[in-house]
Amino acid sequence: MINNSICLDHCHVYQNGVSPSKKEVGTLSHLKNIMKQSGVKKAVTFATYPYQPPRISEKQLTQVNEWLLFTLKGEKKFLPVVQMDPKANDAIKKLEEYVKKGAVGIKIHPIDTKTTFNDPSLENFYKLAERLELPVTFHTGVHGWYLKNYRPLLLDEIAQNHPKLPIILAHVGGMAFFNEALAVLQNNPNTYAGLVYNRKEGPLHLFPEQIKMLLMTIGPERIIYGTDFPTSSLEDIKKDIEDIENWPITKEAKSLILGESLKKLYKKKDKRK
Ligand SMILES: [Zn+2]
Repeated sequence: MINNSICLDHCHVYQNGVSPSKKEVGTLSHLKNIMKQSGVKKAVTFATYPYQPPRISEKQLTQVNEWLLFTLKGEKKFLPVVQMDPKANDAIKKLEEYVKKGAVGIKIHPIDTKTTFNDPSLENFYKLAERLELPVTFHTGVHGWYLKNYRPLLLDEIAQNHPKLPIILAHVGGMAFFNEALAVLQNNPNTYAGLVYNRKEGPLHLFPEQIKMLLMTIGPERIIYGTDFPTSSLEDIKKDIEDIENWPITKEAKSLILGESLKKLYKKKDKRK
């Protein structure tokens, strides 16, 4: 391993494991174990509601967010990111509260919360996130519901209207929407490619040629390595890191992709160092 300060993006952490039958999978201790064995020093963790109902309610999100913030208090190796429904009535008040409790970023899952990216009623929420300089991670890529409501292209408008808002396009649009995500990335310096390795040839998988295109056109400063923990195993994460370390790019570029860009992005908010 050439890199000793790897910071992992996009880890879903579950309060009581992913399901009643797999209680140990996806917990914080599971993630800690993986980090220890793969040499990962820090991880961005998303509060995630288990068992995926058709639509996650505000009450369910509040519960997991509060749990994550409480659990990660004083844990220097973890950056807590709250999952929010930005159109909820009290979203602005909630966000202010979460930040006071240590939240360093926001995750928006359009399918889980039925959120249309460019819904005009979300303007005040985006404005607050921009003022607080909180990175917002948007899930992009085919995942059910109406594609027109969360196609990556809609983020171009958000990025341009909020130039100080850092936007991470998780999964970079997946294989079908990759080109739309790439266009948004090329058009907006405040957008980042959330290179979440998704295996098998499912909708969120990226092909090596697509990753190559990102490297050529976006550059390592705006490419962030992440893993869809707990979907990715220890072996998967080790393999990903090894893979990136073998890319024909400079050592500095690899460091940026494997954590330096991410650390820079959360620097202002991360008081845990
Ligand atoms: Zn994910």
